[in-house]
Parts: sequence; C-alpha cells; structure tokens
Amino acid sequence: ATPTALLVGTGRGAQLGILIKGPEVLETTRAVDTVVLDKTGTVTTGTMTLRAVHVTGDDGEPTAAGAPTEGEAPTAAGAPTEGEAPTEADAFTEDDLLRLAGAVEHASEHPIARAVARAAAERSGPLPAPEDFANVPGLGVQGVVEGHAVLAGREKLLTEWSITLPPELAEAKEAAEAAGRTAICVAVDGRARAVLEVADAVKDTSAEAIARLRALGLTPILLTGDNEAVAATVAREVGIEEVIAEVMPEDKVDVVKRLQAEGRSVAMVGDGVNDAAALAQADLGLAMGTGTDAAIEAGDLTLVRGDLRAAPDAIRLARRTLSTIK
Ligand code: ADP
Ligand code: MG
Repeated sequence: ATPTALLVGTGRGAQLGILIKGPEVLETTRAVDTVVLDKTGTVTTGTMTLRAVHVTGDDGEPTAAGAPTEGEAPTAAGAPTEGEAPTEADAFTEDDLLRLAGAVEHASEHPIARAVARAAAERSGPLPAPEDFANVPGLGVQGVVEGHAVLAGREKLLTEWSITLPPELAEAKEAAEAAGRTAICVAVDGRARAVLEVADAVKDTSAEAIARLRALGLTPILLTGDNEAVAATVAREVGIEEVIAEVMPEDKVDVVKRLQAEGRSVAMVGDGVNDAAALAQADLGLAMGTGTDAAIEAGDLTLVRGDLRAAPDAIRLARRTLSTIK
C-alpha cells in the first residue's frame, strides 16, 4: 500500500501544479516547520518597471573626497564650483543618464536590468552595447558605454569605488526606499549622477499563500538581497513578520544553514540562479516553475505555475498522503 499511496500523492501533486522529484520527497515535506521565501520573483511578480529618475545638478567636485554632509548649506549641490563651467562631457541630461545606465543593464538578465533597459530604449531608441561589461552579483552592473565608465546598482557598488552620493541623490534614494521601491544608483566616470526608482508588485496570490502556510503551523521568513525598507514593505503587504534583507547571493545558503543549526526543518522557496545553493541546502527546496533552470534543477519540488499557493498545497498533500500510509 505504501508505494501506491506515494504514487497517488505525486499524481495528485501534478494535478495541483506541483512537480515532485521523487516519492521520498513527501517525507521531508511533512517535517518542514519553517518556510524561507525569496522576495523577487517568488513573493513578487519579478517584473519590475522604472517609476522615476532623479538626477543631480552637481557638476562640481568628484563626490568621493570630502562629500558634503547633512548639515551643509543648501547651496552645496547646485552651485558652480570655482567658476568653472561644466565641460561638454559633464553635461548629462536625464535621458543621457538613463540611456547610459540602460546600455549597461541591457547586458544583464536581472529583472531590475530589464526594467531599466526597457525604459531607456523606449525613450532613446536602440541602446549601444557596453564594453568590459561585468555583472556584480547582488550589487549591480558595470561597463563602458561610448567611452564612459558606468556603474548601476546598490549604493554599495559605488562605495566600493569610493564614490559617494551627493545629498540630493541620497535623499531621493531614501525617499524611494521608504516608499518600498528599489533605488538604483548610477555613476558615470567616477561620479554619482542619478538614482533610478524601480519596483515590482506583490503577486495577488502571495498573501493568501502566506496565510495558508501560517494556518499549517509554519513560520514564513522573507529573504532578499534587496534593502531593509523594500523588504519590510513587501513583508507587511503579505503578512510576514520575520525579514532577512541585504543578503548577498552567496550568503543565502548560510541563512538556511543557520536556521537548520537552530534545529528547524527548513523549506526554501526561490526562483533565481542566486537561490540554487539555498534550495539545495534546504531540507526541502521549492522552485518556482517560472524561474531559472538552475533553481528548478536544485529544487525537490517545482511549483509549476509560479503560484505561491502551491507551497501550502504541497505541504498539506504530503501530510495527508503520509497519514494515509501510517
Ligand atoms: P533578490 O534577492 O531580491 O532576488 P538580488 O540578490 O538579485 O535580489 O539583488 C540584490 C540587489 O542588488 C538588488 O535589489 C539591487 O539593488 C542590486 N542589483 C542586483 N542586480 C542589479 C542590476 N542588474 N542592476 C541594478 N541593481 C542590481
Ligand atoms: Mg529572486
């Protein structure tokens, strides 16, 4: 009777939109008490759009050394420095900056990159290909566009090059994050020039899925490389209390290990290449069927439709199937 029940379980799973790698997976599924959820593409749609562009009027000193601090006079930002007119190369318009950022992002597959490249191409037409392109996982992208060195990503990407945000861009970034959006900092030729706001939407099924996980006695935790404010906004929207934010891609697996060391039995739900190691490490890996091949290969279960409600369905199914056997 045992193998039959397990086969029925996996068959029922397929009907629910859950692909189960093997009948033995049902046993681990049943034991899970903690569900770690990746944010982008798992809890949210992962389809980002550009919402705003902020540029700085500061054509003066490189911001790296002696960057103006909070308390300084408001003239610091807009004022011409030492009577020097901005050079031709310095005079980037908002469209120029979006185009430069878009050109570098065009070489990346990241949902943020797609949003920026799409918006830039809509405004300025076909984008030039960047030279010396590099994707810096969890931080952003870099490349050379028409002779200009361009960085686009987290503030941390800029600070690694000793580039700091001028006050008006720092303010724009904070306001964007407080509103639950992701701020992309753009530097050109060693100076911070713009902050782009991108955002995606929570899937309409996510809140219900989280409520169902809770009803099954599971603790949901939101895990993301995105900043605290954005993570907190999404968590609030879907009813998650525990948030682990600003986690570098390679550190996601350590978060899972830490929870396991606390004696928890951990399910991880993810979609990205970044999530593959954590999916493999988790007691149970649930991959979004809408996600990357790397995630699907690493997972024990695939939620075919990318609907998070299939996660509580899978756990309920495993409990039922196994109680039939016992
Ligand atoms: P998540 O864990 O939410 O799936 P990632 O680990 O892929 O996110 O990225 C973490 C953060 O790094 C993003 O929120 C963004 O701020 C920055 N980032 C990553 N890739 C890019 C990119 N191509 N362009 C701009 N910023 C990026
Ligand atoms: Mg993701």
